[in-house]
Amino acid sequence: MSSLPRQPITIVGGGLSGLALAIVLQRRGILVELFESHTYPHHRVCGEFISGLRPGLLDDLGIADLFHDAHHHQTTRWFSPDGTSFHHLKIPRPALGISRYTLDTRLLERFTQLGGTFIPNRWKDHDRLEKVVYATGRRHTKTKTNTPPQWIGLKMHIRNFDSGSDLEMHLGDGGYVGASAVENGATNLCGLFPIAAFKQGTAKNFESALDAVGLQPLRERIRSCEVVSGSRCGTTHFHQGQQPLIKNKCTLGDALQQIPPFTGHGMAMALESAWLTADPITHYLAEELTWPQTVSEVRKVILKQHSSRVRMACLLHPFISHGILSRCWRPFGFLLNHLPERVTPLLWGEALRAKPL
Ligand SMILES: Cc1cc2nc3c(=O)[nH]c(=O)nc-3n(C[C@H](O)[C@H](O)[C@H](O)COP(=O)(O)OP(=O)(O)OC[C@H]3O[C@@H](n4cnc5c(N)ncnc54)[C@H](O)[C@@H]3O)c2cc1C
Repeated sequence: MSSLPRQPITIVGGGLSGLALAIVLQRRGILVELFESHTYPHHRVCGEFISGLRPGLLDDLGIADLFHDAHHHQTTRWFSPDGTSFHHLKIPRPALGISRYTLDTRLLERFTQLGGTFIPNRWKDHDRLEKVVYATGRRHTKTKTNTPPQWIGLKMHIRNFDSGSDLEMHLGDGGYVGASAVENGATNLCGLFPIAAFKQGTAKNFESALDAVGLQPLRERIRSCEVVSGSRCGTTHFHQGQQPLIKNKCTLGDALQQIPPFTGHGMAMALESAWLTADPITHYLAEELTWPQTVSEVRKVILKQHSSRVRMACLLHPFISHGILSRCWRPFGFLLNHLPERVTPLLWGEALRAKPL
């Protein structure tokens, strides 16, 4: 048995999973100190489209009210590179659109109102493992094979986007872009582009990256839109699938496993993983579990819940990102339009026989 006093619990990383866990623990009367390398508010690279959310999860976490003005997505439309809409679908379970700029700030406010301690602008390296939960998101280190990054993710918010649907997916030649309504009438444009286009100089910002992957029709549509100041951001840190595990290191959210962005499931999984981590931590504090048992329980419950959809999405991702579906959009559209119940769950990264929660 450890000799450390068991409270407070330290959380490193104040993204969705870290803040959501911090809120649940504080609501249970557990003291939390949260380290975050940035301050709030700030924009993050994210499609800001929340799909695959378990009904009741936001209530369980005590944060449902923070989504009061989120956009409710009912429909989605898929486009070929030449701008043809080849599939229009009512989304099986309506999804939420809310900017991270707003959501992260509201979560932080809730956490501090509950008495939590927030330490911003602190990049915390792991000096110890016990009593520390790492919600540090996407890894900033290289892959095991040291392969240079292949993709760059870019985001910006625009106003006055004339969309016929809540969520648009544009398949390009070697990249893709989602256009998704968020709160206050803004639209999030977020895409994955080949980094080679930036290295070769054919792209230098979001607009020219659209040209680089053959999405000129979308570029034309956004030409007269206003870009929200400060909303442009980018990242090259992607390591899809399960992340390397370190003995006795408790990780959750993207720090444990990452689903390809096209699914719009990453945020729902980050929130669910926070909920699944709260019970083992509570049992640890009650001295019913040791730290190694706590870490192993957290991993077991999260991986059981999410691994099948991560695997499914990782299988499908190369078809979308390498332009295979964009070149074969007619047969792909035929499949989508004629077998919607069988095929569309795959678009959201769900395994065919996903276990009900
Ligand atoms: C291009 C792209 C598009 C996406 N689109 C969507 C989408 O439309 N819908 C969706 O649901 N998901 C999407 N995602 C995924 C989603 O953004 C993530 O799954 C989600 O943010 C994971 O939450 P998290 O809390 O694990 O990590 P994050 O939200 O990334 O938070 C991690 C936090 O930890 C902090 N941090 C890291 N290391 C340290 C340290 N050592 N010390 C202190 N602080 C630290 C970081 O500053 C950050 O604030 C997208 C991702 C990408 C890359």
